[in-house]
Amino acid sequence: MPDAPAAPAESRVPAEPAGLPDHVDAVIIGAGFSGLYMLHRLRDEMGMTARIFEAAGGVGGTWYWNRYPGARSDSDSYIYCYSFDRGLWEEWEWSERYPEQHEILACLEHVAERFGLNRDIEFSTRVTAATFDEAASRWTVTTDTGRSVTAQFVITAVGALSASNTPQFPGAGTFGGDSYHTGLWPHEGVDFTGQRVAVIGTGASAVQAVPLIARQAADLTVFQRTANYIVPARNGPVDPEVKRARKGDYAGIWGRVRSSSFGFELYFLEKGALESSDEEIERELMDRWNQGGVGIWLGSYGDIFFSDEANAKIRKFLNERIREKVHDPQTAALLTPKGYPFGCKRNPLDSGYYETFNLPHVHLVDVKANPIAEITPTGLRLTDGTEYEFDAIVYATGFDAMTGPLNKIDVRGRDGQVLRDKWSDGPRTYLGLMSAGYPNLFMITGPQSPSVLSNMPVSIEQHVEFIARIIGAVRDRGAQAIEPESQAEDAWVAHNQELAQASLFPTADTWYMGANIPGKPRVFMPYLGLVGPYRQKCDEVAAAGFEGFEFTGSTDKEGALA
Ligand SMILES: Cc1cc2nc3c(=O)[nH]c(=O)nc-3n(C[C@H](O)[C@H](O)[C@H](O)COP(=O)(O)OP(=O)(O)OC[C@H]3O[C@@H](n4cnc5c(N)ncnc54)[C@H](O)[C@@H]3O)c2cc1C
Repeated sequence: MPDAPAAPAESRVPAEPAGLPDHVDAVIIGAGFSGLYMLHRLRDEMGMTARIFEAAGGVGGTWYWNRYPGARSDSDSYIYCYSFDRGLWEEWEWSERYPEQHEILACLEHVAERFGLNRDIEFSTRVTAATFDEAASRWTVTTDTGRSVTAQFVITAVGALSASNTPQFPGAGTFGGDSYHTGLWPHEGVDFTGQRVAVIGTGASAVQAVPLIARQAADLTVFQRTANYIVPARNGPVDPEVKRARKGDYAGIWGRVRSSSFGFELYFLEKGALESSDEEIERELMDRWNQGGVGIWLGSYGDIFFSDEANAKIRKFLNERIREKVHDPQTAALLTPKGYPFGCKRNPLDSGYYETFNLPHVHLVDVKANPIAEITPTGLRLTDGTEYEFDAIVYATGFDAMTGPLNKIDVRGRDGQVLRDKWSDGPRTYLGLMSAGYPNLFMITGPQSPSVLSNMPVSIEQHVEFIARIIGAVRDRGAQAIEPESQAEDAWVAHNQELAQASLFPTADTWYMGANIPGKPRVFMPYLGLVGPYRQKCDEVAAAGFEGFEFTGSTDKEGALA
């Protein structure tokens, strides 16, 4: 399976035939939530010239690529969106509690239209390299279409979950049926009616797709390596009264989510699970279970992330729910997670996932005990020799998260140092925004920022606005460039590791840890210091004259000529 196929021809936006710039103030890589807002900010509010390169045939990022059945956000729609334009937020109507892929895509397409962004985007164009020229203090960005553009600033808006991961099973190319990756789904959709289908993987995408594929397929086999803790989504239309109240509380809602722990209107209970009785815990968790959403995970007991004893209380509750939902005790046992704490792996939301395994034509196979040995021309074979035949295989095998999309670009900074080499033992950044030795190169929701441990539009907007502020400071000071001081970077890396090590997160083999990618360093990648405090930290850094950053070029930090 190709890693990232070119966009289908019919969905490509034609590139401008001529007059493409050779130099811009800023190149932005990616046209999802991050890149679109970054372009608007730099071009329309700061008067800079800017250009987006986007591998896809249109805007949308995640929501352009992930069109598998059931694809939708697990964040509530009223906060899974931009807040920077109040009018946009108030006008846009979401049909349900969680927005479906096509609705999010439509919203982002509308944003591109509303702000006239498309004219500065080159679609179907993948950035392959970015090289810093120290003498000129300029980046040269090159693409797979042969374009080469210079820019003072480069902003990577490449997404934390945009490099799809397909395990390299022996014989993968020999399969005679159809293969799909959830993250590279065909735009025309797939009809599985009457087919024998395999789904490999049981992460968040599989949890959304499996119930819908099961409705069409004649026979569905799900190959599970690691069972997930899954809580109900309870999707549906939002009460019009609730909607009205929200529309009238723009400032309150966004004030709360920006200062929250994870970018949701959710708060940990004052008492930890360890200080609560079993009855209290049962009551609290059942309340959240009935409400649906990420509340059990990111809005119940804070100590579950630090104490295995506290965590076990939540696990007990969730395991009981699985046994209630899944009729066959053996299947229920297999679907019951083991060997890692709840909440330390991305917690998917369920709309009928467990119940799907009660259907006679749906089967669950444990590939931890008996791994997939090879893909065959007719299906696949397990290590013990068991063979399966399929018409279609769906890889729901996730992403090379966070560092993956950045490491696919040949980024060369000072002295030609390649970013992926610098990061060979794990990412090294200051504030998850920049890396020392790569002047004027910014990362939106990069590793060591809250990123995937948050409702991401909130973190994206904070990064875009902070990057714009930093770029504004470079320009105001008449400097050429800015980059982190290496001591500031060392301290930030150490701080990240300290927070992670104090938690249970590193005890789970997850994509947060790079554990899904063979050979990837095992380092916890997102910042655990929480959304509100992280924002405050960035504001303090700015207020202290961008402490930890070094301005280079014609002036020194105080603005005097250097
Ligand atoms: C299935 C799924 C469900 C999700 N659900 C949620 C959720 O419930 N809540 C939440 O907060 N987040 C969720 N996310 C995370 C989601 O990625 C973010 O919320 C958000 O969409 C990220 O926006 P972005 O612009 O930063 O990155 P993306 O949307 O990933 O966009 C990055 C873009 O950069 C492009 N790109 C990458 N490399 C290059 C290159 N070298 N050259 C040119 N273009 C490049 C890609 O093609 C892509 O279009 C989900 C992700 C997935 C995959």
